Amino acid sequence: MTTDDPRSSGDRMWEQESRFSRRAEVVSVHRLTETGTVRIRARVTDDRPLDYKPGQFLAIQQDVPGIGLQHSPYCMFMPAVADRSFEMLIRVFPEGPLSHYLASTRPGAPLYFRGPSGRSMLPKDDDRDSELVLLATGVGISPFHALLVHLLRNGDDRRIRLFWGLRLVEDICLTEELDALAAAHPNFTYAITLSQPSDDWTGLRGRLTESVPPLLETLGGKRYYLSGNGAMAEEMEIALSDMGVDRRFLHQERFFNARHRADQATVDAIVARFVASDLFSPRAEQQAPLLFAIERDVHGRKVGPA
Ligand SMILES: Cc1cc2nc3c(=O)[nH]c(=O)nc-3n(C[C@H](O)[C@H](O)[C@H](O)COP(=O)(O)OP(=O)(O)OC[C@H]3O[C@@H](n4cnc5c(N)ncnc54)[C@H](O)[C@@H]3O)c2cc1C
Repeated sequence: MTTDDPRSSGDRMWEQESRFSRRAEVVSVHRLTETGTVRIRARVTDDRPLDYKPGQFLAIQQDVPGIGLQHSPYCMFMPAVADRSFEMLIRVFPEGPLSHYLASTRPGAPLYFRGPSGRSMLPKDDDRDSELVLLATGVGISPFHALLVHLLRNGDDRRIRLFWGLRLVEDICLTEELDALAAAHPNFTYAITLSQPSDDWTGLRGRLTESVPPLLETLGGKRYYLSGNGAMAEEMEIALSDMGVDRRFLHQERFFNARHRADQATVDAIVARFVASDLFSPRAEQQAPLLFAIERDVHGRKVGPA
């Protein structure tokens, strides 16, 4: 994110010291897909504790050779543990300096960071009876994985449904981990939806905004978490809110496309795919007078609620 830095390397190191003063060391780097998803495990090497909640992130800063200091946030993939190790799931971009650099590190490489920062995804205590609906695109699954492991290991028995949007069959990973969670915890289920599936793909097809709305029988009594592509998060948030979901129950974590503004036609198309009708929807209210007006024309008498 930061390039063309005119300062000397001494100045840059000073900034690194002051703003990214924490230290860790890479423990392992595993490439999960050929399409560029990498799982990195690291351990804190400074003398401070590392405590965080699912949903929080660290800002990592590295001096990328030939480019300069780069920093970006990365969510925690696992809940906090006592030995101060942590994991991140990183999507590597062809033109992305930091993701490339991190993916190419070896065990023992130093990491500079600050944090943890950001909001916890843990549901509030008085939300115990609410179902959780988690919608992730790509590596947006990372904070959800930390949340799932934390909740399920702690005996949370509310219904939790994860929908994970990927592009290709080749992007699929982590099924062993997710299958194990689902097998051990019947209250948890997950489904992968592919936007560019192969002909023989038998799972869900289409983007999350296409495949998920018809699967939600009801919308009330749920907490919605949207993570990854800011366009998906923005469009789903507006569509769900149009369907009557209170915005307090919608939790977003945008990894990119943070400033995306949804266009009305896209939101209308998503809203039209929902089958649930259990909530008061301002949109349904807008449409109702029109329907009643048509009925009155045809039958010449007033219809609808008294
Ligand atoms: C709160 C927060 C948490 C984040 N957590 C993670 C995480 O856990 N794992 C992770 O891989 N990334 C995460 N990101 C994104 C990450 O911080 C960087 O943007 C990403 O690694 C690219 O950095 P780069 O230097 O390689 O490339 P850049 O030059 O910064 O970006 C390259 C291009 O990729 C786009 N891009 C960035 N992230 C994505 C993505 N996930 N999918 C598609 N396009 C993208 C950028 O908009 C840009 O156009 C998070 C971002 C935020 C704001």
